Amino acid sequence: MIFKDITDTNFKGIDISSHHEFDHEKVYYYEDQESQLKSLIAIHSSVEGPAIGGCRYKQYSSFQEGLNDVLRLSKGMTDKNNVASIPFGGGKAVIFKQGIKSKNLLKSFASFLNLLNGTYISAEDIGITIEDIIFIRKHTEHVFDNVDPGPFTAKGLFYSIEQAIQTYYSESLEGKKIAIQGAGSVGKRLAEYLACSGADVFISDIDGSKLSEFKNHNIYCVDDAFSIECDLFSPCAVGAIFTNDSINDLKCQIIAGGANNQLLDSSIAENLHEKGIVYIPDILINSGGVIGLTKDLLKRNDAETEQALRDIANRVKYLMIQSQERSISISKFLHSQN
Ligand code: NAD
Repeated sequence: MIFKDITDTNFKGIDISSHHEFDHEKVYYYEDQESQLKSLIAIHSSVEGPAIGGCRYKQYSSFQEGLNDVLRLSKGMTDKNNVASIPFGGGKAVIFKQGIKSKNLLKSFASFLNLLNGTYISAEDIGITIEDIIFIRKHTEHVFDNVDPGPFTAKGLFYSIEQAIQTYYSESLEGKKIAIQGAGSVGKRLAEYLACSGADVFISDIDGSKLSEFKNHNIYCVDDAFSIECDLFSPCAVGAIFTNDSINDLKCQIIAGGANNQLLDSSIAENLHEKGIVYIPDILINSGGVIGLTKDLLKRNDAETEQALRDIANRVKYLMIQSQERSISISKFLHSQN
């Protein structure tokens, strides 16, 4: 077993603290040959409290790719918690997918969490399910197993999209065309909320089996939601989908989605603004999941949790109006406030 604080080291040929995404308190590496676990945990900030964030189980082409992901995602968690006034720091874990996701591997990940003594508390992310977290909880206290965050994220997104349409078009969702990429934990529920409010929803997923469960007649399954002509596009699958090339294929007025780190780099927010597309940053609208996860620790009852989800939409409205009045992107306005 290898457990290493790699923060100020040169590890696998990379000077960690010189990495272009590095702005972190700690980066840890753990490897266990028997279970085949190779994992990184990045603690971006613990100023507001223990670092929280999901664990991603993904096939990375290199150590560097996994490191990029964990550094960027953990910083995003700090920003997200700050924007939503959640009194926790930002962190993230990645597990390098190699063989199968065995019980041994998950148990080994629990040992990694135990070594950090609660300075990082994990939840699920892409590739890790609530069932995995419930299993990991048998071996460590340092996970959130109280709720599936997906439905909370979807609800916060739904309120935000409703508010964005109201602010931009002065209309309700009735008859509005919304395209969603990804029909997983977040995208599926978001589609249902929107369709129940009268929107026409066009949804795609690379896994066709995810598209077979829809019963609402306002939901249409499509090959790729990305380039559909619509009022609002909601990316709810993977990150880095907006590049200088790909944004030329967009045919939407507003972007508001749950996927983390949607922009390949931050300058793309300005390019979208110049194209006349309103981009609502993911850290602003996908905090419903952390609101759900932390509700018990923060002793929030159902009404307070619901209000916290509605507050995401109230911030969206405020920031959309501020950005419209100043003719600047929401991202730029948001940064000017921090
Ligand atoms: P998920 O794994 O349940 O679903 C993602 C879906 O996207 C899968 O069905 C997958 O097949 C599909 N997909 C992958 N690539 C695609 C592509 N190119 N086109 C279409 N579909 C594609 O994940 P989730 O929990 O629904 O999360 C979705 C996104 O939101 C992720 O980026 C995640 O990091 C982010 N996010 C999730 C939460 C949460 O509470 N679950 C909170 C904040 C952010």
